[in-house]
Amino acid sequence: MKATIISVGTELLFGQTTDTNSVYLSRQLQLLGIDVMYHHTVGDNAARFRRILELSYDDCDLVVTTGGLGPTQDDLTKETVAEALGDALAPDPASLASIEAFFARIGREMTDNNRKQALLPSKADIFPNREGTAPGFALETGGRAAVCLPGPPREMTAMFERSARPWLAGRAEGIIYHRTLRTFGIGESALEAALEDLISAQTDPTLATYAKEGECSLRIASKRADAAEAQRAVAEMQGAVMDRIGRYVYSDSDEELAQVVAGRLIERGLSISSAESCTGGMFAAALTDIPGISAVFDRGIVAYSDRAKTEELGVPRETIERHGAVSRETALAMARGLKALTGSRVAVSVTGIAGPEGATDEKPVGLAHMACVFDDRERCEEIRTRNVSRVWNRRYAVLHMLSMLLREISD
Ligand code: ATP
Ligand code: MG
Repeated sequence: MKATIISVGTELLFGQTTDTNSVYLSRQLQLLGIDVMYHHTVGDNAARFRRILELSYDDCDLVVTTGGLGPTQDDLTKETVAEALGDALAPDPASLASIEAFFARIGREMTDNNRKQALLPSKADIFPNREGTAPGFALETGGRAAVCLPGPPREMTAMFERSARPWLAGRAEGIIYHRTLRTFGIGESALEAALEDLISAQTDPTLATYAKEGECSLRIASKRADAAEAQRAVAEMQGAVMDRIGRYVYSDSDEELAQVVAGRLIERGLSISSAESCTGGMFAAALTDIPGISAVFDRGIVAYSDRAKTEELGVPRETIERHGAVSRETALAMARGLKALTGSRVAVSVTGIAGPEGATDEKPVGLAHMACVFDDRERCEEIRTRNVSRVWNRRYAVLHMLSMLLREISD
């Protein structure tokens, strides 16, 4: 099935409201195996709406609209859609009753306009609106189908889930199953290069990469007649992908890195503490964002100055003097000191140059050293970011700490 999504409302054209409905609907339709061909936005104008509808049915069999279902003059979705599908409006008794009940409940007077909301295309399947007053509907005549939903996102999504999705699922031909692999430590172009032949040979499953803030996602999707078949095709492709880039993949269910790390720590019951210099607590913040982490997270210490590193973590003054605050030796001493102090099974540390100042000839902005002491196993890593900005350098350092930690606790 091929679909067009039409958002109705002059406020959308004026830029007063952002069209979030289309984004939501596109994702939902795709999951149902319906191909979305176009997004249109049209103002509250019957002639232009009619034109877009006709255009849509040129090469789509389904139109999904949002907005313009309400009781006011400028709400003309119902009339226009009914007309395009050769139907006419008629009072729907059930809708009238529920609109009356709604007004009784909120204790407000009902107007003729509200009664107008019970006028619906005579051949439509009516979708009740439990979150508001304007009912939606689905209508199918002569190979043209329309699903009309209210504009307010809360009403729209509730109606989609309760009524429109089941209506559409009964008509969609294929089922799309997809999985998103999340990677860290490999750039988008390297990822594409590693999978080049798979990507260029693809018909089904399809492969698409997305880059986001130092991480890269790979979406594997398959559209088949039934769900089990699509799942099988995706699993097979996932196997081929993992053979090549498996060491970079940290999740195959679209989770955040911090979420995966927290999950693993909790599952293994590993107590953890952190000592941060350049990231100033961002690592601790990322971990403590995850519910349930209190079972394992003991403390995060921000040891920003040299003095703090010595006083809080017992980093020997000579280590800092000899190797510098940003060094492998200092990072390791921080983690060791933290472990001695807290008794956590895992102690992680980071020290780096966030910039824009502070670089030396040997130590550029974006350089960070991190250490992880897990029981008696010690590991140190060094990163040099592309130094886009201070914000980026710090965020990237946190991601790298999480990734290092995940590798350490994963076997
Ligand atoms: P109502 O009964 O509330 O009038 P309606 O179906 O007539 O419902 P509209 O009047 O078109 O809907 O829009 C109501 C509100 O819903 C808008 O003011 C806007 O805040 C929101 N809205 C409408 N369309 C969209 C959209 N495409 N994306 C996000 N929000 C929207
Ligand atoms: Mg309205």
